Amino acid sequence: MDFTLNEEQQAIQETCRDFAEQEIKPIAEEIDRTSEFPYEVVRKMGELGLLGLPFPEEYGGAGADFLSYCLAIEEISRGDVSIGITMEAHTSLGASPFNLFGSKEQKERYLTPLARGEQLWAFGLTEPEAGSDSGGTQTRAVLRDGSWHINGSKNFITNAGTEMTGGVTITAITGKRHDGRNEITNIIVPKDTPGYIIGNAYKKMGWKASDTRPLTFEDCQVPEENILGQRGDGFKQFMQILDAGRVAIAALSVGLAQACLDEALSYAKERKQFGKHLSKFQAIQFKLADMDTEIELARLMYYKAAWLHMQHKPYTREASIAKLFASETAKRAADQAVQIHGGYGFMDEYPVSRYWRSVKVNEIGEGTSEVQRMLIAKLLGC
Ligand SMILES: Cc1cc2nc3c(=O)[nH]c(=O)nc-3n(C[C@H](O)[C@H](O)[C@H](O)COP(=O)(O)OP(=O)(O)OC[C@H]3O[C@@H](n4cnc5c(N)ncnc54)[C@H](O)[C@@H]3O)c2cc1C
Repeated sequence: MDFTLNEEQQAIQETCRDFAEQEIKPIAEEIDRTSEFPYEVVRKMGELGLLGLPFPEEYGGAGADFLSYCLAIEEISRGDVSIGITMEAHTSLGASPFNLFGSKEQKERYLTPLARGEQLWAFGLTEPEAGSDSGGTQTRAVLRDGSWHINGSKNFITNAGTEMTGGVTITAITGKRHDGRNEITNIIVPKDTPGYIIGNAYKKMGWKASDTRPLTFEDCQVPEENILGQRGDGFKQFMQILDAGRVAIAALSVGLAQACLDEALSYAKERKQFGKHLSKFQAIQFKLADMDTEIELARLMYYKAAWLHMQHKPYTREASIAKLFASETAKRAADQAVQIHGGYGFMDEYPVSRYWRSVKVNEIGEGTSEVQRMLIAKLLGC
């Protein structure tokens, strides 16, 4: 077993670490305070190739492996998790469906500008009545006169309404299967399609500088060829998309947890009480040691899940374990980081206050902790 990162993986990790230090961390407090989408930084990430890391070069991507992409997500999220989730949702949810299931024409038309970072793309699965029960889609698309007529709504969709957004791929019911269940198909909806209504951005507790919106479709019409892969494959496709997405969310959580440890350690080495630095008190040392231990475990879990994925081996279980453990690790790390800061940790000028607010959603997005436990238990045979 070799845990050494290869040269390319190390180079991507270092590039992202430097970028996060120089370009992201200095603006993190401000974009959280103003909830402003960080266009300048996101565009620079596009120019550096960071928005198309795991996609083939022929479609504008960097041709990097999946672990490299996850390492990049970890480092960018260590700088700021709003920017981390913007990159993750664009890559794992927005662009990767085109790479996995798109025709050659769809890849040329849609994937290429996304991989080059010229546009962002969203994936609309969640609905007001279909959250954890993601197969419970109610949005309908009816094929008439060579067009899909879409009616319905989507909730909480990341990257849905930025100036850079090119559109959204949504799940919709397109008919009935032989077994009587709904046939679900993924449909590509470009941004300016009439009847595609982008709602106002939500006011959120964390991930404030990321773009999250409701979407409504009122007799929204797209051409018949705007389906992804085969008609009726929507459910199968999004389960595949979510497996890889969960590994990336685990990496994002590790990045945030690492940021908590970075801040807590540096504060503990500066702050003196009872004539000593906090880092000299064993109670504080144990908190830091526990954080470091759990972060390392979570990191190894996402490395393993990414490695299995790259070997084309089953990794659903490992993806869920990594997502579950890393998001809960990040929550504990944020909590302890605030505790180590005492009252200062409760003040907005200290990054740990922002980390604490943002970490909660890691246990919710791309499948809640309960959903991960359900998936793991099912694979245990329960
Ligand atoms: C900031 C943000 C960004 C998001 N971005 C996107 C996006 O880009 N695209 C997208 O499609 N979605 C997105 N989501 C939606 C996200 O995936 C859902 O919020 C999540 O899947 C949970 O669905 P829900 O919110 O409807 O909660 P619900 O499903 O209503 O769950 C409520 C609670 O009940 C629990 N629960 C539900 N069913 C069970 C069960 N059977 N057993 C035990 N407990 C259960 C859940 O775990 C949870 O604790 C985003 C959400 C947020 C907050």
